[in-house]
Amino acid sequence: MVIKCIVCGKEFDAVKSFGKFPITCGDECFKENRRRKRIEYYAKNKNTNKNTKKKTNHNDFVEINDKAHALGMSYGQYVGLYMNRGE
Ligand SMILES: [Zn+2]
Repeated sequence: MVIKCIVCGKEFDAVKSFGKFPITCGDECFKENRRRKRIEYYAKNKNTNKNTKKKTNHNDFVEINDKAHALGMSYGQYVGLYMNRGE
């Protein structure tokens, strides 16, 4: 089956592997496609992290950790006792 490579646009005769046809013509384009996907993935994740306010979560952790230690408990014990009550 002739497939058009999504990276370089070259048409190539593709052989099914792992139950599906490849989308790139060869090793070089496969790597290039993977590189692009990774950049895309990181670009998306960067935005997600901004939206989830990671800094606040970290502060929460420090606060809870301090409270837990004040009561002589580990963070996990404290969270298990006070945070998972389905409030
Ligand atoms: Zn190609």
